[in-house]
Amino acid sequence: MAGVMVPGLTTAQAAERRARGGANRLPASRRPSVARRLLGELTHFFALLLWVAAALAFFAKLPQLSVAIIAVIVLNGVFAMIQQARADRAADRLQEMLPTRITVWRDGGRRVIEAEDVVVDDILLLESGDRVPADAVVLTENRLLVDSSMLTGESEAGAVAEGEALFAGTFVVEGDACARVTAIGERTRVAGIARLTTSTTKPDTPLTRGLRGVVRVTATIAVSVGALFLLLSVLVGNPIQQAFVFAIGVTVALVPEALLPTVTLSLAWGSEQMAKRQILVRNLEAVETLGSTTFICTDKTGTLTRNQMTVVEAWTPAGSLAIEGAGYGPTARLAWSTPDAEDPVRELALAGEQCSTGYAEEVGGQWRAHGDPMEAALDTLARRVGIDTVEDRRTGSAELRFPFDPRLRRMAVVLADKIVVKGAPDIMLGLCGAGPEAHRAMEALTARGLRVLAIAAGPRNGRTPRNQEECAEGLRLLGLVALEDPPRDDVPASLKACRRAGVKVAMVTGDHPATATAIADEVGLRSPGSPVLSGSDLPQDEQHLAALLDRDGAVIARVSPEDKLRIARAIRSRGHVVAMTGDGVNDAPALHEANIGVAMGLSGTDVAREAADLVLLDDSFAGIVAGVEQGRATFVNIRRFLTYHLTDNVAELAPFLVWALSGGLFPLALGVLQIIALDIGTDTLSAVALGAEPPAQHLLEGPPVHGRLMNRTVLRRAFGMLGPLEAVLSLVAFVVSLVALGWRPAHPFPTGHDLAAASGAAFMTVVFAQTANVFACRSSSRWPGALGWLTNRLLVPAALIGLAISLVELWVPPVARLLGQWNPPLWGWLVALAAMPILLAVDALDKHLRGRRQARAICHGTARSAVS
Ligand code: ADP
Ligand code: MG
Repeated sequence: MAGVMVPGLTTAQAAERRARGGANRLPASRRPSVARRLLGELTHFFALLLWVAAALAFFAKLPQLSVAIIAVIVLNGVFAMIQQARADRAADRLQEMLPTRITVWRDGGRRVIEAEDVVVDDILLLESGDRVPADAVVLTENRLLVDSSMLTGESEAGAVAEGEALFAGTFVVEGDACARVTAIGERTRVAGIARLTTSTTKPDTPLTRGLRGVVRVTATIAVSVGALFLLLSVLVGNPIQQAFVFAIGVTVALVPEALLPTVTLSLAWGSEQMAKRQILVRNLEAVETLGSTTFICTDKTGTLTRNQMTVVEAWTPAGSLAIEGAGYGPTARLAWSTPDAEDPVRELALAGEQCSTGYAEEVGGQWRAHGDPMEAALDTLARRVGIDTVEDRRTGSAELRFPFDPRLRRMAVVLADKIVVKGAPDIMLGLCGAGPEAHRAMEALTARGLRVLAIAAGPRNGRTPRNQEECAEGLRLLGLVALEDPPRDDVPASLKACRRAGVKVAMVTGDHPATATAIADEVGLRSPGSPVLSGSDLPQDEQHLAALLDRDGAVIARVSPEDKLRIARAIRSRGHVVAMTGDGVNDAPALHEANIGVAMGLSGTDVAREAADLVLLDDSFAGIVAGVEQGRATFVNIRRFLTYHLTDNVAELAPFLVWALSGGLFPLALGVLQIIALDIGTDTLSAVALGAEPPAQHLLEGPPVHGRLMNRTVLRRAFGMLGPLEAVLSLVAFVVSLVALGWRPAHPFPTGHDLAAASGAAFMTVVFAQTANVFACRSSSRWPGALGWLTNRLLVPAALIGLAISLVELWVPPVARLLGQWNPPLWGWLVALAAMPILLAVDALDKHLRGRRQARAICHGTARSAVS
């Protein structure tokens, strides 16, 4: 960090300004207004379809129908909006869990504060990866490069010189700077610009495409069947007005009105479940995409390991020191290989501390890492060998810093009397011209899975280097430090889960191949024969690269950010859905390129988080696996309520079919308004409850449930089995009620009250059948008894409420009269109630038989993917 020349504010001054000027809050990315959104909900494709139906009904002189359809549209719109608002609120809440912290110069020292507490005239100490929290003017800078794409749309990062302005919301991608705040919150430039969000759009997710397909298919079917009915009923000699009513009824019956809002809610629910597992979802569709992941590229440090570093060995040409003692505290057991090693190791430790900005700090009796844990470990090493690092930092601050460059894999500081460089040993040993014993030491340490750094010093000789190359002149190797970073406990189990789930995992790290391999072996990531590659070995040809990487357990070490991007692209080209983790500034392009970019909440940079779809709040690999499971659950849930919705569409369509086939002689068992009542009143809540079905046990067994939403199982169950069954049952209830009320075959059909009572029986049959169906739809392979009737806690209340609404529609005279139904006779009730056990029994039998057939198929080795 360039030296701070200005005094900065005192805490008291800052507090006073904070009280006067308020919090530094950037305006949230603006969402469309309520009115605009409602307009959107009222004018999407589905809604337009219904508007046309409403208009037709109106012109056909059927105002009640017209009003009912409009009510459906509006209800649907409002419902969808409430759900979206819920999802937005959940996202906001999650955003708040990620405080953006920033370093400022106050009371003559560095202080880390919340970005909200920044006030005008604060001195910001910005480093690469930071998001600029307020408008500011640069006082001093050091190779400062700023990404202003969110303000200017310019994708290249640009240099910002002393005296120039920095704007809130931009990112420091390289170098560092010291800047004085000129405006905060509402008065920043970005606050004046309407759109904060960047315009880079990702390709459509599989879910978006799938849903569009479902909507297109159902809408086409609905409209064409409606038109067919119009034609049919005119042909059988109906008046055109009546024909219209039927055609509209058919169309309305076939449109699953509540589908889209249910999907949104299901995704929002999925993202809430993920939040409980410390995963922040930045866009809703990512929930489902994560579920279709087939390849995970994970980094090592912090994700597979704990990112709790301790130096366990310090090696110098004169001898070495072994250190025993976890944590960042200053006490540890030291074992010197020779007394002669003491001075060289102290020199090494001092240099390591001098070129670090991270440090160890005692907070409430607990020693913790502040900043980069690896650098904090170096600070701890220095304390442990008896160096007063606090005093040293106060007196000997660096004149110039060249921050860690992931391509060069080293960093440098220029001190008053020398230049210190630290970095990856394989690079550094070459730069220093170190002898074979240093190489041997490095190999021995990396083979133990330790992260090794080399530290070297060069003479200052009054020169001021302008770049890292110039820092590397005349370097003398001080020694190596080897750090231990133990793997996380839950990683081996998570990797096993990935394997069972057919998800391939590769480690992509900047660390040394030997260290990476040792850790990969320790956690069980590598499988026999899987390759260990270095970034520099990767073939240039993408196809070739893709073929090389498309296997489980590969370790790719010493990768640069560009390599990461190429890796993501290559694996995607093999048809994989790729999740890629990253934490650094330079990882943003790779996170964008992957289907799912995963950033770290604890250790990552703001830039990476901004580019990611998911943020792992606890940085843990297990979180990704939990996310995959939740994503799969969400996809399956969408299929569940799709089956459920489509089933009763068949039951609703049947009466029209019978009526048309009888040439208009057989009365219509269910009217259009009853259908709407079923779709909205009975179905919606239950469908929503299905969308919140907990993940099934077997979700992580076998490869992802790829494929279309409306797959063969959905179609077979809805249109081939459950739907027709419901339809037959409701027509039976209708006829049985007519007979109970005195009608006999070959007699004219009753009208008025008796017809309404029979229609009520048909209606209640669908209601009861759907109540059973919602339980049957919970699984496509197991009957509800095997799942436990109460394991989805939302389902029972939802079904009961749906039932209650239906009874109101049946028994409250004005509503019942409007719908054209009335309390059925006893026999009607009996058939309606019997629909429940019958549907469950048929469903259970079907599942049982299919289970047996599948088991046989598996024995004969001809199984297709069994579960969905
Ligand atoms: P990882 O995938 O383990 O996070 P990085 O890309 O962060 O790897 O680092 C790659 C290598 O660069 C490390 O193995 C280390 O040798 C070196 N390195 C990382 N951070 C620093 C730093 N702050 N200073 C000097 N060298 C570093
Ligand atoms: Mg790293």
